[in-house]
Amino acid sequence: GGRSGTEPAASASQGAGGGGGVAPSGHSGPIKIGFAMDTLLEERWLRDRDLFKAAAEALGAEVVIEAANGDDAKQISQAETMIGEGVDILVIVPHNAAATAAIVKRAHSSGIKVLAYDRLVNNADIDLYVSFDNEKVGELQAEAILKQVPRGKYVYIGGADTDNNAHMFKQGVFNVIQPKIDSGDIRVVYDQWSKDWLPANALANMRAALDANGDRIDAVIAANDATAGGVVQALAERGLAGRIPIAGQDADLAAAQRIVEGTQTMTVYKPIKLLAEKAAELAFKLARGEDPGADRKVNNGKIEVPSVLLSPIAVDKFNIDETIIAEGFHTREEVYKNV
Ligand code: BGC
Repeated sequence: GGRSGTEPAASASQGAGGGGGVAPSGHSGPIKIGFAMDTLLEERWLRDRDLFKAAAEALGAEVVIEAANGDDAKQISQAETMIGEGVDILVIVPHNAAATAAIVKRAHSSGIKVLAYDRLVNNADIDLYVSFDNEKVGELQAEAILKQVPRGKYVYIGGADTDNNAHMFKQGVFNVIQPKIDSGDIRVVYDQWSKDWLPANALANMRAALDANGDRIDAVIAANDATAGGVVQALAERGLAGRIPIAGQDADLAAAQRIVEGTQTMTVYKPIKLLAEKAAELAFKLARGEDPGADRKVNNGKIEVPSVLLSPIAVDKFNIDETIIAEGFHTREEVYKNV
């Protein structure tokens, strides 16, 4: 890559120059994409990394990748390094939706556009957001659990408060259950975030929920499969695993196994390959000053961010074969290995 040091930086609101399929002016060699990830310590993000890299390279781009593993200062400094190295576009999975606004400012002052990948950056002039429909994720969870438990005591185990997605997932859940809360059919007896999405924090939350309710709980919605794992562990400690419907998200292998074993009711499958390919394609376009053609808008507290939102898919023991197994997300052998 490499941007000429003498040309003026393009303004953030304009194209980076060129347009019409031409590389930014003064640009020689392949488009260079910086992929600044939150973490590689969770199953799904390894897939995101590999698929994004493959998709971007297939387009002829060069990709540099860093992961901050939950450290905000580190994520900011990694992004600054990429900007300093002259990436043409920054793709970011923010750990902290608020703190990473600093990265967007810094990138823009160097004429570099920023694409928010999977998670939104709040209160920043993000150029594009490519994700799944995250409210829909929560709605799918709540619809599945509501079918099994139309009335009773619900527990909500949230994700990381610092992740905008955690708020959207929760919003989706409440979109569906609020009418039932209002009618008195459902009572949410416990509702807490799980700091940094850690299973250990979800385990502690679920123990607290059980303690506060004398172990009498009818359903649990956990924001993802990692936190659902903590929930199942807490239930197992009380001999309740498999007796209470539980929803998760991500189609993690452990969750797929729990679904066929009967200790988790459903998960939400998000085809990461589609996300990675879409993000790579649109990052490439943005870097060349082309219109990404985003058809949705998501408000981030500052602007209506042009967005592309893919569809999540509800998965339970009845459709697991035709969804995540048929698509090769996991093999049949690994999913059914304990049953
Ligand atoms: C993602 C989920 C993931 C969670 C924890 C969220 O922003 O959308 O897929 O489970 O972060 O990494």
